[in-house]
Amino acid sequence: MSEWLEVNDLKTYYPVKKGLFGRTSETIKAVDGVSFAVRKGETFGLVGESGCGKSTTGRSILRLAEPTGGTVLFEGQDIMKLGKEELRRQRRHMQMVFQDPLSSLNPRHTVGKLLEEPLIVHGLGNSSERKRSVREMLEIVGLPAGFASRYPHQFSGGQRQRIGIARALIVRPKLIVADEPVSALDVSIQSQVINLMQDLQRDFGLTYLFISHDLGVVRHISDRVGVMYLGRLVEVADKQDLFSRPLHPYTQALLSAIPNANPDAKRERIVLGGDLPSAAQAPSGCAFHTRCPYAMELCSKVMPRMVERERGHVVACHLDQTGNEAIRC
Ligand code: SF4
Ligand code: MG
Repeated sequence: MSEWLEVNDLKTYYPVKKGLFGRTSETIKAVDGVSFAVRKGETFGLVGESGCGKSTTGRSILRLAEPTGGTVLFEGQDIMKLGKEELRRQRRHMQMVFQDPLSSLNPRHTVGKLLEEPLIVHGLGNSSERKRSVREMLEIVGLPAGFASRYPHQFSGGQRQRIGIARALIVRPKLIVADEPVSALDVSIQSQVINLMQDLQRDFGLTYLFISHDLGVVRHISDRVGVMYLGRLVEVADKQDLFSRPLHPYTQALLSAIPNANPDAKRERIVLGGDLPSAAQAPSGCAFHTRCPYAMELCSKVMPRMVERERGHVVACHLDQTGNEAIRC
């Protein structure tokens, strides 16, 4: 598998007005120097607490949010350098699925029309071919073709998500960025939608960037996982390595909070002190130092770099595995 989507030092900052009458402003560093690579055909899970910048990372890769810096190479092409028209063409290959994909669409349009729209935008097929594609696509996502004449409000959450997936898939993309695609669904429906996504990945050769705050879901679907904290990646590893041997204290704390599927593996719950700091006032050095049980003097002064500790297992922390101060950068 080649590294096929490469994100290098991605930054997405937003100015926000504050103070009386918005006279002063501050900068939210929603994504602050994120680098990782996604391999063709895999599912890369991006996890972290809400507000850690994982959605903005996904949106920035597709330039639905405009990055402030960094590069995104997709099949060797720098997405950041594309003009408006080239970007529009490129979007055919890079689609997004949202938590409730139909909520932002016109509720007075039938599902058929909503599914046909992307085909029109990308100039795919004539009218009868498009109608046929819509019916086929509904069946592919497990819905009757006749649903094309219905309206979004007539569907359950799970059905709406199937339609959202169909709308992304109908232009035959290569990459799907799925942002919390099952978070609003009941657990039993979640697993149906995830199974569907896995079947579609196999049948259509899709690559997923799967964004979720839910570690259980990420563990189920991902091949590799990246953990984000306050706009930065703190750990990336194969799923097995991350869940069996998390190296970053933040990952360790996140994992300790999920009910353990294996009762033999004794893992004490690590309770983090303090609240998640604001991305406008990220702590200096390692941004996690205000909550980290192992924080040392160095941590508030020097930002740890991402270092490969084991094959394919990258972590940004000054500690080594024995708990000693490891890396001065
Ligand atoms: Fe904790 Fe320091 Fe490692 Fe940050 S660098 S996670 S504060 S030990
Ligand atoms: Mg989000």
